[in-house]
Amino acid sequence: MSDEKSIFGSVKNPSAVEPKKLTLDSKIKFRCHPGVSCFTACCGGIKIVLTPYDILCLSRRLELEPSDFVQRYTEPTWLEKTDMPGVQLKMREEDDRCPFVTPKGCTVYTDRPTACRYYPVGMADFHEGGSRDAEGNENAAAEDKFFFIVREPHCKGFEEDKEWTVREWRADQGVDVRDEMNKGWLRLVMRRKSFGHQASLSEQAKRMFFMASTDLHTFRRFIFESSFLETYELDPQVIEEIKTDDVALMLFSFEYLAATLFGATKMDIRPDKLKEKVEQLKKRQGEQVLQSVADYEKMKAGRDKKKVD
Ligand code: SF4
Ligand code: SF4
Repeated sequence: MSDEKSIFGSVKNPSAVEPKKLTLDSKIKFRCHPGVSCFTACCGGIKIVLTPYDILCLSRRLELEPSDFVQRYTEPTWLEKTDMPGVQLKMREEDDRCPFVTPKGCTVYTDRPTACRYYPVGMADFHEGGSRDAEGNENAAAEDKFFFIVREPHCKGFEEDKEWTVREWRADQGVDVRDEMNKGWLRLVMRRKSFGHQASLSEQAKRMFFMASTDLHTFRRFIFESSFLETYELDPQVIEEIKTDDVALMLFSFEYLAATLFGATKMDIRPDKLKEKVEQLKKRQGEQVLQSVADYEKMKAGRDKKKVD
């Protein structure tokens, strides 16, 4: 086994991880809503690693430049015990709680990070760091995932009367879309982890990884204001896409980093593929955001009504 847990599976108390392996069709009994007695209890004292897509969504939500968001709300961390630099949410100094939590709940709910969406259903993904062929290419046949429950004593969601499959839970939380968005980036981290110290990564390469992962707007300037476009032959359609579309730019950055950090000889970015992927993901994301806003408002209204009664 290569990776026991994915980057989002890390929990404060490892003994809270139930040993039972779940599949997408396993049933879980759990519900989290503003009416639970432990509401927001899990929003403090935790490590929440942010993916590039998390940063993109949160900085947009807060109407900040990604670099300003990172400076204000995050602190540096090493990803998965590798030498790959990343960021995690900076807990408030006064109470060690998330900067976005209030007694009424999460103020960035529809844009909350991937790690928050996972809880309490973690995922172990052997594919990300899994087996490879002689050339170091990922072996698709090795794709193997399972899920597990993190059952912490303070979490009362397990006492709620709602049963659903892991698949339904993940779709409800918007985890599937996040997984798609994060996939290319996670692969880079897991690849680094599985290659370990066999290969050295220059400081410049690490800086580039950090810049592309945390500050897409600066990465865009790097592409358009340096000799980048003279160095790499990019399809004009791709160039147009990444000029204005942040999601396209993010997906492009994963390809670029994979090519430059891990020695791929050329970037093979097909514009039709990129466009199709971006459109597909945006559509699914839009539907889920609308659904999740509606659900959250309904739950809040229910709680407020209860209080009045
Ligand atoms: S981002 Fe929202 S859900 Fe995540 S820890 Fe903060 S308040 Fe809780
Ligand atoms: S039920 Fe669990 S996930 Fe929901 S607020 Fe309580 S501790 Fe957090």
